[in-house]
Amino acid sequence: MWADTEPWRLAAARRESADTVTLGLEPPAPFVFDPGQFNMLYAAGIGEVPISISGDPGQRTRILHTIRDVGAVTHALCATPPGTEIGVRGPYGSHWPLHTAEGGDLIIVAGGIGLPPLRPAIYQALRHRDRYQRLVLLYGARTPRDLLFTGELARWRGRFDLTVEVTVDVGDRDWRGNVGVVPDLIGRVTFEPGTATAFMVGPEIMMRFTVRALLERGVPEDRVFLSMERNMQCAAALCGHCQLGPFLLCRDGPVLSYRQLARWISLREI
Ligand SMILES: Cc1cc2nc3c(=O)[nH]c(=O)nc-3n(C[C@H](O)[C@H](O)[C@H](O)COP(=O)(O)OP(=O)(O)OC[C@H]3O[C@@H](n4cnc5c(N)ncnc54)[C@H](O)[C@@H]3O)c2cc1C
Repeated sequence: MWADTEPWRLAAARRESADTVTLGLEPPAPFVFDPGQFNMLYAAGIGEVPISISGDPGQRTRILHTIRDVGAVTHALCATPPGTEIGVRGPYGSHWPLHTAEGGDLIIVAGGIGLPPLRPAIYQALRHRDRYQRLVLLYGARTPRDLLFTGELARWRGRFDLTVEVTVDVGDRDWRGNVGVVPDLIGRVTFEPGTATAFMVGPEIMMRFTVRALLERGVPEDRVFLSMERNMQCAAALCGHCQLGPFLLCRDGPVLSYRQLARWISLREI
């Protein structure tokens, strides 16, 4: 455990899907972060992992993290009983450049567990809704049961100032929505490519095809932003585990523009 790790009280845990839980953690003092940043969460005796902050940046006393249970540390975090403490250090990393999007359309594209790191940017854009033209959210999951934040998605869909398109790879008996992959949604929405800015997080194959679809529509490379997940251990730009070309993703990322990344990840690789 690092010296700057602080004990935060787990005030509430909310199950979002079969394998995903949102932890509401109370920091010892009001905590300020920018949308897109992450914290290092430490499960006692097991280990530490980077997890994006998934709540409203205006909320400084209860900080949300939405975690998919994929291995030892995330499993221990998801199983932590409310009332106990979790070690937290942060916030780390770069943030979604909401100012770059001002004056034009903002397109937010999420796949699976990619929605939580984008949710703070959605809250912030809605808080300052007059700064943007169209606001579009495109989100996909494997099945309807894997969709996160469904109540909130339904409320957002009801707004006249936000376009929400949701798709699943495979539907079920009750599903009446889109079936197909996230990049296909790009063709279903109206936006002005010359002024548009896009933020995206998701599996690399989703990001690869979404970047391609956006560039084909005419969105400039330096207005397409991706959050890159790589193995991250120190989060202090010391260990080098998260190096990608000249970038240490814990310090220079995780949010970078496609123009910055293009030399280091080809559309075939990302
Ligand atoms: C900047 C950043 C932000 C992140 N934000 C979130 C978040 O908001 N919510 C969330 O659930 N997860 C997030 N992750 C991923 C999370 O850190 C990993 O799932 C976690 O480190 C896995 O650790 P583990 O011990 O539970 O599993 P392990 O036993 O280490 O791994 C289990 C499986 O997960 C895979 N895995 C391990 N690390 C990663 C990784 N970094 N990315 C993708 N797959 C991985 C392994 O290859 C393996 O298949 C983020 C990662 C980064 C780098």
